[in-house]
Amino acid sequence: MEEKRLTCIICPRGCELSVSPTGTVKGNYCPRGAIYGRQEAIDPRRVLTSSIAVAKGGAPLVSVRTSEPIPLAKMNEAMAAIKKMKVAAPVKFHQVLVEDFLGLGINLIAGNPVNEL
Ligand code: SF4
Repeated sequence: MEEKRLTCIICPRGCELSVSPTGTVKGNYCPRGAIYGRQEAIDPRRVLTSSIAVAKGGAPLVSVRTSEPIPLAKMNEAMAAIKKMKVAAPVKFHQVLVEDFLGLGINLIAGNPVNEL
């Protein structure tokens, strides 16, 4: 693994970081940048947002998101799983739709409520 260069996105200052193969971070103005840089270089993660179909609801779709960031490497698998899902109305705001989504230890939650028809 060679040195990685990236921009810290934790705050608007946007420090330019370099992360060594051993995980040493340089260029960070504060400790949050070191944590971000190490995570991003070794195991980049993102919160996944999407939508799934709702049966018998006042809207055809409900927005969903993961409760925590998930590995980028799992995004395609996660999207394929979400595409096959359908939930029954009513759906509450922040309702857990799938516990331990893909065995990642995080939940898939609703981003908005959907009433029953
Ligand atoms: S390292 Fe700290 S100060 Fe710099 S962008 Fe990241 S959070 Fe902001």
